[in-house]
Amino acid sequence: MRELHFVRSGRLAWRAQTPPGPVDPDGAIVRPFLAARCDGDTLPIHRPVSRALQAGIAVGLVDPVVAAICGRVPFRGPFCIGHECVAEVTAVGANVQTVRAGQTVIVPWAVSCGTCRSCRRGLTSKCDTATRGRTLAAYGFGPSSGDYGGMITDALTVPYADHMLVPVPAGVPPLRVAAASDNLADGWRAVVPPLTDRGGGRVVILGGGAKSIGLYAAGLAIAHGAAAVDYLDDDAARRRIAEGFGARTGPLSRTGRLRGYDVAVEATSRPAGLRAALRALAPGGICTAVGYYLASGTRLPLMQMYATDVTLHLGVSHPRADLPELLAFVDRTGFPAEDVTTIVADWDDAPRAYPARTTKLVLQRERLPDRVGPTRA
Ligand SMILES: [Zn+2]
Ligand SMILES: [Zn+2]
Repeated sequence: MRELHFVRSGRLAWRAQTPPGPVDPDGAIVRPFLAARCDGDTLPIHRPVSRALQAGIAVGLVDPVVAAICGRVPFRGPFCIGHECVAEVTAVGANVQTVRAGQTVIVPWAVSCGTCRSCRRGLTSKCDTATRGRTLAAYGFGPSSGDYGGMITDALTVPYADHMLVPVPAGVPPLRVAAASDNLADGWRAVVPPLTDRGGGRVVILGGGAKSIGLYAAGLAIAHGAAAVDYLDDDAARRRIAEGFGARTGPLSRTGRLRGYDVAVEATSRPAGLRAALRALAPGGICTAVGYYLASGTRLPLMQMYATDVTLHLGVSHPRADLPELLAFVDRTGFPAEDVTTIVADWDDAPRAYPARTTKLVLQRERLPDRVGPTRA
């Protein structure tokens, strides 16, 4: 079998890998047939950031937690990349009850057990059992975040399969939810719970850094009854996608004049965008920042936030907690999340296609031929 490896900036390659051994009694083995590229993966692919981040951490300009997630030399290749997939289950362990071979499932980007204190609180990407003292336990970030491999592979081992694997409803086209493992769920958490608390609220999204998350957020906000959604981005193609969802759009140069929003989504990944999003909020508003702010000591307008009584929500997304509601919503409404996808590339072409400078890339291959009946390992 083969897995896609990040080798160095701009270079990816297939590498042969030993197939997984017998499936663990509580685990499963799945075969991804769609893999979407997380917005965050473009950071090491498009820029040679490894040495710069290492130097930045050494002199205190970059937050040391970057090393805890991505290694002492962050993003040093080779490592298995990819953490958004739709997969078919190929084998389940003897104790697994809720999924069976042949089912189509989403695999969340972070590994979680479903029973620890963090999982029970919905903080599934901070699972106490899986992280075991590490910052994250996840697919596709390299060995510092666990030995789970990446999702662009022929066989992915999934622990805690009854909890981890979330079946895709039969009526949902898999391409629609290709990014549900991470970025689609990230867009969801940034607007759906905040709008539930602020019904009919006005939403502003500053896009272009976390390229697909901002667009998913725009579409989901409109679909959840926002009074208005303003999507700002300097990229005309992304503005057209947001307009297709029903958002009003404009360039980021309008950011400084924004005021009176109930919900803000900061997806520029820039400190100036974060400050502008916070200043754009009405009293009681909430800003969810979905990008990376790697520098130590990012400045925030704390006095303005105090005076306006606003909330800043920062943190990893917890797709496993949100996926049942998200998938049921997509099934019920036909929400066209696939409109954010800008390239569907052939799986075999992954080393060449994955670095594409595009908003949202999805790799696709044929599913296995139908089997006769479920199989158990
Ligand atoms: Zn991601
Ligand atoms: Zn847990």
